[in-house]
Amino acid sequence: TKEDVKSYLFRNAFVLLTVTAVIVGTILGFTLRPYRMSYREVKYFSFPGELLMRMLQMLVLPLIISSLVTGMAALDSKASGKMGMRAVVYYMTTTIIAVVIGIIIVIIIHPGKGTKENMHREGKIVRVTAADAFLDLIRYAPVGILFLIAGKIVEMEDMGVIGGQLAMYTVTVIVGLFIHAVIVLPLLYFLVTRKNPWVFIGGLLQALITALGTSSSSATLPITFKCLEENNGVDKRVTRFVLPVGATINMDGTALYEALAAIFIAQVNNFELNFGQIITISITATAASIGAAGIPQAGLVTMVIVLTSVGLPTDDITLIIAVDWFLDRLRTTTNVLGDSLGAGIVEHLSRHELKNRDVEMGNSVIEE
Ligand code: ASP
Repeated sequence: TKEDVKSYLFRNAFVLLTVTAVIVGTILGFTLRPYRMSYREVKYFSFPGELLMRMLQMLVLPLIISSLVTGMAALDSKASGKMGMRAVVYYMTTTIIAVVIGIIIVIIIHPGKGTKENMHREGKIVRVTAADAFLDLIRYAPVGILFLIAGKIVEMEDMGVIGGQLAMYTVTVIVGLFIHAVIVLPLLYFLVTRKNPWVFIGGLLQALITALGTSSSSATLPITFKCLEENNGVDKRVTRFVLPVGATINMDGTALYEALAAIFIAQVNNFELNFGQIITISITATAASIGAAGIPQAGLVTMVIVLTSVGLPTDDITLIIAVDWFLDRLRTTTNVLGDSLGAGIVEHLSRHELKNRDVEMGNSVIEE
């Protein structure tokens, strides 16, 4: 009925606004691109986006500390030990699956066919540094995301210079991330919890779009908390305990990316990798994803570890910098999805401990 539609729209207003922001931001970016703004103009133009970024970053540290403390305090040591163990097993399993998908996809598609001489060597790392009046972030998020995306499109490198290999490489990364995020992770969630993963993912939409807009799983953390707790009803003792750690160490998208990119660089160098080297890449890609901070393009930096481990030229990271701003957004979204589904899975596996604890505490579930 009309009332239902109205209440649906009202409840999902911010999600709809955020989706609209992505679309409007993209259109605005491409409309303004031909005007070739100066560096300074781009900075002014992107200011509302930068503001969101900094507000989120400002929240992260106090959020991580307070949530870990209250999360731990709400559990007894046995329950937190078990929960921690489950989270780690989930993190490791999904990260390794992601690495394997990355390796298989890049070997099958072989985007690095040919030599690297015809690849365009340029690009720069755009770094958003942490600082900054806090207002209701959720309400401001769509505005910020609009300008973050439009600003990035205005200043990005010309797409015309991206040659065939780089385009193929971009497609390969997208296919790999898609398989992991849209097939593997939801399937795993379903197999463990027997609940519909798409309903759960629907509740995460705003966090996923924020990840896309900010390229930072840490900056997205406040929104991830909100989506999981308010939309999906995940127990706060679980989110507070597993999300801060997950956002820092569990990066499936980054792990997949690191392995895939290293093999791509080997391919453009016509460097034959033996099986041992591929195993080395999987191990170092896992380590590099754990070591990467949840900030924009951190994965590109830790890739040095993966390349050096098998003797590939670290200079060749420059070959893929031109598309990294875009691929970073996609892997960050995958990272946030992995952390969130992980929280759902850990909650399901820990339901008995949580219930016992409720009984022990006289049924008082922690509330804000
Ligand atoms: N930007 C990613 C994140 O925050 C890390 C990466 O560069 O892969 O999750």
